Amino acid sequence: MRLTCPLCGPRDRREFTYYGSDDYLRRPALDAPAEDWDAYLHLRDNPAGPTRDLWYHDPCQSWLAVRRDTVTHAVHSVEALDPPPAPAPAAATPAPKRRRRSA
Ligand SMILES: [Zn+2]
Repeated sequence: MRLTCPLCGPRDRREFTYYGSDDYLRRPALDAPAEDWDAYLHLRDNPAGPTRDLWYHDPCQSWLAVRRDTVTHAVHSVEALDPPPAPAPAAATPAPKRRRRSA
């Protein structure tokens, strides 16, 4: 699969990171009920057909919205997100676990 980055042109899919549906952009409020956060963080649709997904182009660090069809694999459009998605609130993002080194 190839995606056309608005800044870089046609590129191989391996240069991109897939972030799933654009539902990621509709983040609950910080004080939203736990059920809303659970749905936001863990529940995903798996549609067959037209989708609008978030992708990140690693070389140019651009966030992209890609309209594509999961059945035909046709890519209909790629647009840069401006502004890019806001980072996740610190309360919703667990700190990375540190690994202890064995001596
Ligand atoms: Zn790019």
